[in-house]
Amino acid sequence: MNVMQIDNVNERPYQQCSRCVMDTSAVEITFDEDGICNFCTDFLERSSHIIHEDKQAKKQRLERFVEAVKKAGKGKTYDCIVGVSGGVDSSWTLAEVKRLGLRPLAVHMDNGWNSELAQNNIANLVKGLGLDLYTHVIDWEEYRALMQAFFDADVIDVELLYDNAMLAVCYQLARKFGVNFILSGSNQATEGMRMPKAWNWYKRDVRNIKVLAKRFGGVQINTFPTHSTFDFILDEFFRRIRWISFLDYLPYNKFEALDVLERDYGYKRYPFKHYESIFTRFYQGYILPKKFGVDKRLLHLGTLVAAGQMARKDALEGLVGIPYPSKQDLDSDVSYFLKKMGWSEADLNAYIARPEVRHDVYRSERGFYEFLLRLMGPKIKQQIRQWLRR
Ligand SMILES: [Zn+2]
Repeated sequence: MNVMQIDNVNERPYQQCSRCVMDTSAVEITFDEDGICNFCTDFLERSSHIIHEDKQAKKQRLERFVEAVKKAGKGKTYDCIVGVSGGVDSSWTLAEVKRLGLRPLAVHMDNGWNSELAQNNIANLVKGLGLDLYTHVIDWEEYRALMQAFFDADVIDVELLYDNAMLAVCYQLARKFGVNFILSGSNQATEGMRMPKAWNWYKRDVRNIKVLAKRFGGVQINTFPTHSTFDFILDEFFRRIRWISFLDYLPYNKFEALDVLERDYGYKRYPFKHYESIFTRFYQGYILPKKFGVDKRLLHLGTLVAAGQMARKDALEGLVGIPYPSKQDLDSDVSYFLKKMGWSEADLNAYIARPEVRHDVYRSERGFYEFLLRLMGPKIKQQIRQWLRR
């Protein structure tokens, strides 16, 4: 660790956590006298009961949950919806859901940026498990225009578009088939460390999407699926459709899961997390570090270290060099991105050079959402968490 190096984002002396690998590129990071950061400390406080839960207790909790899903799904075509990206977390969710005797509808969203590897992984998995797959293909021209608006606005969370649409499609299908459970691959063991606030944006901010779309390029949203805070309230609390971090019910180890997926379903692994989409890997591997000074590997690898799934020295090795397997891979993604977006190299350089603009310079639902959270108070929030965990 070179403490004399000045972090160019925050203009404070560089420091890296001595337990995980998070560093001062996260503005709100603090360190204790042993050099341990608040990110991994909070993570372990919040998640230890899940990561280090007693085996028997975990098993019972899982059995109760599976029974509840089966009961709610009686007489219906499916008893749950599972969104699949082709990544290990969602693939493992789908395989485990099937093994436990549930009847999922697998849902995938094609936004035009899927890697061939991801397409093959999904096709092999769904076929191997004998499940139905619904693929929602997003209108590319509309999606491209929305992405362009986000680039022109210089806001950080371009992936808000994909993430919000994925939420929308899952809830839509749950409503259509009368399903009460959406089981997601999000989990504490491999991604439970809180994202630094400035690294992404509130994922249900449809107001922000619409205002950016209109302001930058006058994009009219016609077919693009959206799911707002209000939709969330209607779906979760009135229609009683629950979004569940399913892998928290299982003793989940990413590397063991990868071995089984490779052995049984011809799964092919990616060099880094979320590299199933060409845009996601270009965004995380090039745009975020270059334009916004954000390297998400710190968070992904730091979580694995704090959760005891990876040695810190291996994580540090994983942080060396550019967030790409090789310079050639990066160059090939740059070309792909330019061609697909219709940009020149000069357009990309100009975009990277422009300073960031915060999402909440424009109208946003984040304040409304935070107000709701405050309104609920800690007791109700606690209850909702328990209820979702049940
Ligand atoms: Zn730490």
